[in-house]
Parts: sequence; C-alpha cells; structure tokens
Amino acid sequence: MLEALQHNGWTIIGPKVQDGVIVLDEIQSVDDFPIGYSDRQGPARYRLTRRANKAVFGYNVGPQSPKAVLHAARKVIWRGKKNDLKSQETAEPLPHIAFVGIRPCELKAILIQDDVLLRGPYGDAFYAARRKNLFFIVVNCGQAGGTCFCASTNSGPKADSGFDLSATELMGNDDHRFLMQAGSRRGEELLASLPARPVTEEDLKESGALFAHAVETMGRTLDTHGLKELLYQQLENPRWQEVAERCLGCGNCTSVCPTCFCSTVEDWTSLDGSEARRERRWDSCFSVDFSYIHGGSIRQTGMSRYRQWMTHKLAAWQDQFGTLGCVGCGRCITWCPVGIDITEEAAAIRSSAQQKEALDGND
Ligand code: SF4
Ligand code: SF4
Repeated sequence: MLEALQHNGWTIIGPKVQDGVIVLDEIQSVDDFPIGYSDRQGPARYRLTRRANKAVFGYNVGPQSPKAVLHAARKVIWRGKKNDLKSQETAEPLPHIAFVGIRPCELKAILIQDDVLLRGPYGDAFYAARRKNLFFIVVNCGQAGGTCFCASTNSGPKADSGFDLSATELMGNDDHRFLMQAGSRRGEELLASLPARPVTEEDLKESGALFAHAVETMGRTLDTHGLKELLYQQLENPRWQEVAERCLGCGNCTSVCPTCFCSTVEDWTSLDGSEARRERRWDSCFSVDFSYIHGGSIRQTGMSRYRQWMTHKLAAWQDQFGTLGCVGCGRCITWCPVGIDITEEAAAIRSSAQQKEALDGND
C-alpha cells in the first residue's frame, strides 16, 4: 500500500518513534512505523513500552497531531526586501500528503478545524492550500489509551466517515491482518490494487469485539449531557479558582490539542533594515497577551484563562461551530505538567452545581 501511494506521488506522513515518543513524520517504508511498541499514558505521564507481539499500530496518540502539518506552529506569511516589496509570501510547493495511521479522533479534529479554518468567517488561505491534496488512511483503535475518552465525544474508537481508507489491525496467534474499508472512490481504487480477500463474518465479529473492548477499558468519560448550559451557568464556580492554583499557564494543553487553532503574528526585521518578514505562530488562551485589547489584557487571572479554555472547548464552540471543540484524545491530560484533567474538572463543576442545587432545594 505504501509503495502504491509513493508510486502515485503521495508523500506519506505517519507515526514514527522519535525522542522517546511517537510523532508524525515522513514514512519511507513500513519499517519506519513503531512496530512492536505500545505506550502508557496518565495525567502528566507518557512512557513508550515494548509489546510482546509485532503490532504495527499497537499504541495510542502521541503529543503531535496532523495540526502540526496542516496548521503549522510557525508559518512565514509575508517577507520582503528593502526596495523590493514584491515577494509577498513564500511560494513553497505543496506536497500531496497521505496521512497513514492517524486515529479516528485525529480525523474528527481535522474536520473540526475545517469548520474554523476553511468554512469559518475568518478562513485561513494557508490551511486551505494544505488541506487540498490529502489522502487519509485512518487506523481504528483496538485499545484505549490511558487518558482518552473518545467514546464520550463520538470520535472513536472507530471512524465512520471522512477517510479514504480505514484499517483495523487484527492479530491472531499466527495471523496478522488488516480489515480495510474504503470511504471514497480513491480509497476503493487503492484497495483494488492490493492483495486482499473479501471480509468474512468472523473478521467483523473480531473487529467489533476489539472496539467494544476499547470502549469498556477507556479509563475516562465526559458527561456531555447539558454541558454547554451547565458551564455557562457556572462561571463563578469556586472550582475554577482551585484548578487555577495548580495551573502553570504553560499552554502545553493548547499546543498538543488537535483542535486548538489560535494564532498571533510576529514581525521580524534584520538589524540592518534590509529585510523583514511576518510570521504567524500558534498562540494560547493561557498567555496573558492573548487577550490584550486596547492597552490591557481582559483575562488577567489564571482562573479566567483556564475557564476561557474549557468553556470555549465544551460550550461556546457548540454555539460557534455546532460541535464540541474536544475529540477526547486525552493529550491535554497526558502533557499537562501538573496532570490537570479536563474530564475531572468538568465532573467536579457538575457535581458542585448539583450539590448547590440540592442545598438550595432544602432551603
Ligand atoms: S481538549 Fe484535550 S482531550 Fe479534548 S481534543 Fe483537546 S487535547 Fe484532546
Ligand atoms: S492546564 Fe496544564 S498544560 Fe494547560 S496551561 Fe495549565 S498547567 Fe499548562
């Protein structure tokens, strides 16, 4: 499959081990995948481990998501030389990218970013250019990661649509195979060129049992019922202050989040004044400057910044884009240096609101 993609001019981006984590990088051959690896994840904890078998996709998401490729952390948006302001922006050739091995939650996150960066009122031309020539081969999850909760956000463990091909890795005792499903004409054509046999009832049963197991063993849940209204009503809940006392304001959670899209611009001029450029770079609602308006920041406290982040993800996003801004990938929990857990915070706000309601009722 990889050879067929390469033959057709696709640059393949997929999971690879680098610096003790799984990242997304260019894949040349199947040996580049993290074969025989798994991972252990928890709040503020990530460790790569070895598996007893040679599963190719036997791990869950690492710190990077396709956002790093489609909405890059830094992008030159304008550059010019003194007396030559014609070169408005860097004209780089855009590769045709095939994402191989991204997870259902990551595909859902791309579709969510599309709502913002393609169809939103402030579309992004660079994102739109990158988004044009993509091929998605999604790998469904047969096991849950230590911090994920995609079953609560309807983003996994199996992808339903939006892919060209989906794959489910099935491993028996002497049997290692992939159950493939085409989601587009291009996917069908690629599938037809591969050595394959028709799917059997047994294959479907086996994959169904895997997904059920992944859902059952997902260590976290997010109760989304009435969540938007709940958060809007709880803007003064004391829990925001409690979490703010632990939060370092580092912005790791927004960097690793596959749906966070905020950015700022920075201007750079050479010391001799001969050239200048403007760069767009990721920003975070955890930085004080992020809300700087007319001589001051409107979110001065850690409490207001954490509340903004979580309320936007789980409530205001629904008003803006008709969906949650969270796909339950768990990255913000794993990569938060103090292990703040968005599911725990949402549950704590719900429970304190319910307690207050009960007390008010007794009065
Ligand atoms: S908020 Fe956290 S769990 Fe939700 S998509 Fe972002 S990183 Fe993943
Ligand atoms: S919640 Fe965690 S990751 Fe996010 S800014 Fe606070 S300390 Fe950093």
